[in-house]
Amino acid sequence: MGIVFEPKEVEEHRVGSLENFIEKAGGCAVIDGGFATQLELHGASINDPLWSALCLIDNPHLLSKVHLEYLEAGADIIVTSSYQGITFLGFYGHFIIMATLPGFISRGLSLEQGEKLLEKSVKLATEARDDFWESVKKIPDHTYNRALVAASIGSYGAYLADGSEYSGYYGPDVDLNKVKDFHRRRLQVLVEAGPDLLAFETIPNKLEAQAVAELLEEENVEIPSWVCFSSVDGVNAPSGESFKECLEVLNTSKRIAAVGINCAPPQFVHDLIKKFKELTGKVIVVYPNSGEIWDGVAKRWLPSKCFNDDKFKVFATRWRDSGAKLIGGCCRTTPSTTRALSKVLKQSSLATN
Ligand SMILES: [Zn+2]
Repeated sequence: MGIVFEPKEVEEHRVGSLENFIEKAGGCAVIDGGFATQLELHGASINDPLWSALCLIDNPHLLSKVHLEYLEAGADIIVTSSYQGITFLGFYGHFIIMATLPGFISRGLSLEQGEKLLEKSVKLATEARDDFWESVKKIPDHTYNRALVAASIGSYGAYLADGSEYSGYYGPDVDLNKVKDFHRRRLQVLVEAGPDLLAFETIPNKLEAQAVAELLEEENVEIPSWVCFSSVDGVNAPSGESFKECLEVLNTSKRIAAVGINCAPPQFVHDLIKKFKELTGKVIVVYPNSGEIWDGVAKRWLPSKCFNDDKFKVFATRWRDSGAKLIGGCCRTTPSTTRALSKVLKQSSLATN
């Protein structure tokens, strides 16, 4: 199309910029935590399948508020609310937030309105980051970094809301092209909105990993991505495919800066990092859930007997020591988890410098 620039150089520069950012953050950057719990705490109504999307329409200030709380707690990276709506599932009680275009459209929103909402999710996070940075940078000796905004892109299974992001089974009719087409428009809209990173989350199988890698190439996406898998057994991808197979299709992509695990129980993470270290040279990103378990019968979260923020932060130092460079929390973690992580991860990295 006659555009004169060399995309490869731009990509490498951008991917390199994530590594520089991590370096500046002390060798390990902190990702924020769960969104739903915080919104609920602030009075958002969560009895609608697309409640988080509704929040984007009716109560955007609540979303800004949650972003701000995570920034204040020390998050180096905040994740947008573009993986939306909620569904409760058995398994590990993933508290799914999923904003997909088909999801919006099924609620009677036009395609254009749906796209505007996705854009808005990035805008709210970016504005929260900019406002926070403006106020904090004037404070002498503050310890904050100017945070990055990662646009969340939930898996196809998360959109189906049938638990398949934990089974990895998308059925016989779903092939590579179908998964790419599902992601394509949302990806384009989010990229256009200008986040710093793209966060592909709860990917359950090799098919979707490959679809993501190919799509980023086809769309010539220059914003660095991370691709995170879910895991239900702590060993393989939920589909039963080995992570070796899943990572092979990502390792060759220069557009993917980091790979890892999200929304798995924290107990799995250490061994998975060790495994990933052997399988990839990419940055490793982990943000497990809180370790609480969703009781599908009683429809409530069972308080974790063995997990709390203190335990989470002890685990997190192990994750860092075994090689993870982006660490945060997923479902049911809160700003207090982020505060604990920020403190312990920065403190010890200063001590070892
Ligand atoms: Zn989660």
